[in-house]
Amino acid sequence: MAKILVTGGLGYIGSHTVVELIQSGYEVVIVDNLSNSEKTVLDGIESITGVLPAFEELDICDEKAFQNCMTKHAKIDAIIHFAASKAVGESIEKSLDYYRNNVFGIIQLLSLMRNNNIKHLIFSSSCTVYGQPDKLPIDETAPRKPATSPYGNTKQMCEDIITDAITSYHDFTAILLRYFNPIGAHPSAKIGELPKGVPNNLVPYVTQTAAGIRKELSVFGDDYNTPDGSAIRDYIYVVDLAKAHVKAMQRLLACENKKEIEIFNLGTGNGVSVLELVKTFMNATGVNLPYKIVGRRAGDTEEVWADSSFAEKELGWTAKTPLTEVLASAWNWEKKVRGIK
Ligand code: NAD
Ligand code: UDP
Repeated sequence: MAKILVTGGLGYIGSHTVVELIQSGYEVVIVDNLSNSEKTVLDGIESITGVLPAFEELDICDEKAFQNCMTKHAKIDAIIHFAASKAVGESIEKSLDYYRNNVFGIIQLLSLMRNNNIKHLIFSSSCTVYGQPDKLPIDETAPRKPATSPYGNTKQMCEDIITDAITSYHDFTAILLRYFNPIGAHPSAKIGELPKGVPNNLVPYVTQTAAGIRKELSVFGDDYNTPDGSAIRDYIYVVDLAKAHVKAMQRLLACENKKEIEIFNLGTGNGVSVLELVKTFMNATGVNLPYKIVGRRAGDTEEVWADSSFAEKELGWTAKTPLTEVLASAWNWEKKVRGIK
């Protein structure tokens, strides 16, 4: 049984991935500093899988603590690196914090991987590295555009640092996964997204509005050059996304990939507008969702969706879950968290 260290494993995507890893027979060690998660997520993971994974509460930027963890959990076969700060707006306000956590974090991680003879890495990247692409759908050969936020910049920098580390040291292999828009919650409603404060992302805002916590959803812009005027994204179910990590891990550990570094887009291939998503949510849940149209949000791109055929061909993976089911899972999770029947 391979042993996988998962940084940020109590976070939104990390926790769903830990569940899939355990259910696929991997041994998991979670590292998280709880800066954007709760220790109770461990209970959800245990309740779903019947396994309580090892957990170390530490900051990946703390070299001594991280080394101690690697010594304690010796013979780690691979790392999945989710731990990062991820709010685009906040990254503009607190750019140095973002560079420290995300960029220093990956340097620290790669150095410790070398010191501890850990050779395989999966890294959480983002479709944000493409900016507004010249052609749609976007495949992995599309050029990266200049980042529009420090957060986006950190993802590009991390991709480059991993690539350079592999060139320098040869003995690493890595897979960079570029996520599109992850949404939804585990079908058990035992784990899900737990945004702190007012959500920035569309779906948590939608579910909190449906729960009566927010008065109404603001739809940012109806004057885009899209069929209904609202912006288009590729919303991917977090459980489908989590399963892609298992496929990528199998490939890394089997060394099926001849290349030292590979990049995969992870999306559904379907573009969905904000207004379409709102209507689908109401149809899927039967809940009325008050919304109003407001101006565009600064820095937003018009339309983005993935060509994930490389992941389909090489990993044997596709995102299968229909949007209605995904939005229903998000609503079930919100109801559970708020105690709504
Ligand atoms: P999240 O905030 O829910 O999870 C990140 C976890 O990492 C949290 O539990 C947090 O406490 C932990 N963490 C942060 N800094 C840490 C540090 N220095 N040491 C230890 N733990 C630390 O975020 P998420 O949505 O699960 O995202 C996971 C990864 O995927 C991130 O790298 C993010 O940039 C990337 N990503 C997310 C999205 C998205 O829309 N959610 C899209 C593309 C890429
Ligand atoms: N959005 C919106 N209202 C909100 C939050 C988001 O209209 O309260 C829109 C946003 O402008 C974008 C889409 O929903 O077009 C997805 O936004 P999100 O922040 O979830 O992800 P992004 O694609 O920006 O990473």
